[in-house]
Amino acid sequence: MPLLVMKFGGTSVADLERIENAAKKVQKEVDRGYDVIVIVSAMSGKTNELVGWVETTSKLYDAREYDAVVASGENVTAGLMALRLQEMGVPARSWQGWQVPINTTSAHGSARFVSIPRDNLDAKFAEGFKVAVVAGFQGVSPEGRITTLGRGGSDTTAVAFAAAFGAERCDIYTDVDGVYTTDPRICAKARKMDKIAFEEMLELASLGAKVLQTRSVELAMRYKVRLRVLSSFEDTDETSGTLVCDEEEIMESKVVSGVAYSRDEAKITLVTVEDRPGVASAIFGPLADAGVNVDMIVQNISEKGHDDAHPGAVTDMTFSCPVNQVERAKKAVEDARAAGSIVYEDLVVDSDVAKVSVVGIGMRSHAGVAAKMFSALASENVNIKVIGTSEIKISVLIDRKYMELAVQALHDAFELEKG
Ligand code: ADP
Ligand code: ASP
Ligand code: MG
Repeated sequence: MPLLVMKFGGTSVADLERIENAAKKVQKEVDRGYDVIVIVSAMSGKTNELVGWVETTSKLYDAREYDAVVASGENVTAGLMALRLQEMGVPARSWQGWQVPINTTSAHGSARFVSIPRDNLDAKFAEGFKVAVVAGFQGVSPEGRITTLGRGGSDTTAVAFAAAFGAERCDIYTDVDGVYTTDPRICAKARKMDKIAFEEMLELASLGAKVLQTRSVELAMRYKVRLRVLSSFEDTDETSGTLVCDEEEIMESKVVSGVAYSRDEAKITLVTVEDRPGVASAIFGPLADAGVNVDMIVQNISEKGHDDAHPGAVTDMTFSCPVNQVERAKKAVEDARAAGSIVYEDLVVDSDVAKVSVVGIGMRSHAGVAAKMFSALASENVNIKVIGTSEIKISVLIDRKYMELAVQALHDAFELEKG
């Protein structure tokens, strides 16, 4: 039997009516001759509520219990979806992660897949069941405890099942009808793309476009899964949505293909750090040990006085991290200072910044993208605080209040509304 994976996100299973709507889409594929693995998220808002309950109960919570609580949202929707399908006459059975089993590492809160043995689901399909409804976002550790994969992780569950079961396609049903040139909720001119290359999608996702979890794109790329994003609220067929595929499948690509943003960033500067070998390692070692996800790093060496004749030279060291990790970062740096391994005059935190990035494979071979980006931001009077680049992206850190404006200005400057 040909097999499809269909994943429904939180808004697509937000209430019983929407679960029924999603179930009808599944039934349609079963009627067309497919066996289907359905991956469901928790009802929208549910995971946030569960996380809130954990944090209110225990500030420095035990991550194993966080996962036990937070994974429960998906269990509810998996059971309800199986029941709805049964009511419609479709033989369906629900599966929690441990029942499959979805074996993961024991990194609670951000576990990774280790293996997904096919035997149990295959046996059920062989019995005549047409649909396996699997709770997304969760798995089981080698110690036998429930794990979760990080926010947005059901996308990754879907791709992992598509790879493990050799699915014809992995369809991600969500509340937008595809991947856009930028978030259509903050830029009215955003344009839906028919296709996007894995590399570009990977950058957009890791730079904040939450339409797909970054890890899901990585897995799809590695295992050559045909990955598609489409709307659960519209009538859809094989041509709907956006296909995430190899670069070679895309006839022409623009220099810049998308704009992404990440709202909740912070910038931390250590003022007048000694300029000597080993300083960066003395700062970023403790930050890594504290689990801080450092993103952009800037160290500006003053050429004046930077030679053997001026041994007392100093520099500033700036880095960015997610805003909810500021306290942890501060503590790591201050502890290192108290222990005498770093010397600096002051630590300055700016918690009101956002990161805006432009992404495009064409940047590999085109000059001038940075200049165009900076001029577009300048003409809107948006001040750039930090700049970071890689082969196919340029990111800037700016005041959060200008984030929407910056996204729109960049979308205009690179004429992304034009196909
Ligand atoms: P789900 O609950 O279905 O997993 P998410 O909220 O995680 O849905 O992801 C869908 C959302 O991603 C959209 O509602 C949209 O606001 C946002 N988004 C951000 N960037 C993009 C983009 N480039 N294209 C489409 N959607 C985007
Ligand atoms: N429910 C989880 C979350 O909100 C996983 C997901 O929806 O992908 O992050
Ligand atoms: Mg999501």
